[in-house]
Amino acid sequence: MNMGSSANPTQDTVAALEAELAACREDLARIRAEEKSHSSDLSLLGRYGNLLLGCTDLAEALQTSEQMLSQLLPDYACTIYPLIDGEGLAEATHLWGNAVVETALQASPPDCLCMGSKRVQRGGSAEAASLCAHFHASGNEPDFATACIPLIAQGDSLGWISLTAPVPPGIDKLQVAIAAADQLALALANLKLRQSLRDLSVRDPLTGLFNRRYLAESLGRELARSQRRNLQVAVMTFDLDHFKAFNDNYGHAAGDAILVAFARMLQANSRNEDIACRQGGEEFVLLLPEMVLDVALRRANEMMQSLLTLNLVHEGQALPSIATSIGIAIYPQHGKTPERLLAQADQALYRAKSLGRNRVEVAADDSDSD
Ligand code: GH3
Ligand code: MG
Ligand code: MG
Repeated sequence: MNMGSSANPTQDTVAALEAELAACREDLARIRAEEKSHSSDLSLLGRYGNLLLGCTDLAEALQTSEQMLSQLLPDYACTIYPLIDGEGLAEATHLWGNAVVETALQASPPDCLCMGSKRVQRGGSAEAASLCAHFHASGNEPDFATACIPLIAQGDSLGWISLTAPVPPGIDKLQVAIAAADQLALALANLKLRQSLRDLSVRDPLTGLFNRRYLAESLGRELARSQRRNLQVAVMTFDLDHFKAFNDNYGHAAGDAILVAFARMLQANSRNEDIACRQGGEEFVLLLPEMVLDVALRRANEMMQSLLTLNLVHEGQALPSIATSIGIAIYPQHGKTPERLLAQADQALYRAKSLGRNRVEVAADDSDSD
């Protein structure tokens, strides 16, 4: 009888089976641990998505992201680079974790390889060519890995997220990071859409100034606030002089360019709390909280001067400067309600027109009893 290599085949079989069982137990424990970690990641991802839904602005979305991503990806240093609208620049206001390699606080899309390829860019100390330009490696760091994930929603690039980690273990939870980045991208796209809808309802599309509707709301709010605090408010109304003739001579497009330049001048001469509006056509209103008559008069004269020195070139053609007439009314001296105050400023403006244009006139004291 062949006894094989062992004196006791039953013992051998039992030992082999036991070893297999132990290996199975180990596998099972690992799978359970992985499942547990997956299900905890999934529930955190779900929570993150819900929290993002409730965010009403970018700052809140970024704050929420820092809180949730630091739980989801606790072993990585993370930086969010949200692109600032229209500026082609991303500012890293939210970065956390122990960074193995330094990353820039400001970067533009060409600095990150993931923005060009619109795909996840993995890199690290082992391959200098794969490292994005916003990482500033000195060469003295311990081995590290990086991953940059683009924030893209509806085809729109909204920024990117950069992760760094020491090697080992490197970036071993990339799928979780990608799922989180997708949620953030969607939230950023929604916030952007909300902002443009808000802008559409309160802004004039040509000049970007507030519109007549926003002026009415703001004037009501500002007068109520000023009444409570016993403060004055100045209202200036502007109407460009001989604008029809300007359009006739230089064309409507050149006229539009003048309106845009005028709006810029208004904004440049406004404080943060002032509200500059285009009422329609070539008529504008500036709302100046906490401003007394003397200062308002000085400001109006300064604006008339800066308008006369404006050099504007449109499609290669130098345009002549344009003048404005201005009417000023002060709350509560010249009117106590929004309607009355605006009507008083308009009357002063008409007087400025009839007295020769390119001048400022102040409303008459209010005789109304309202
Ligand atoms: P005044 O000095 O008395 O204010 O004369 P004016 O020519 O400025 O006034 P008027 O009200 O006769 O003409 C306003 C002109 O503004 C007529 C209109 O064609 C022009 N206008 C209104 N809206 C726009 C616009 O959006 N773009 C351009 N280019 N012109 C506009
Ligand atoms: Mg007009
Ligand atoms: Mg006019």
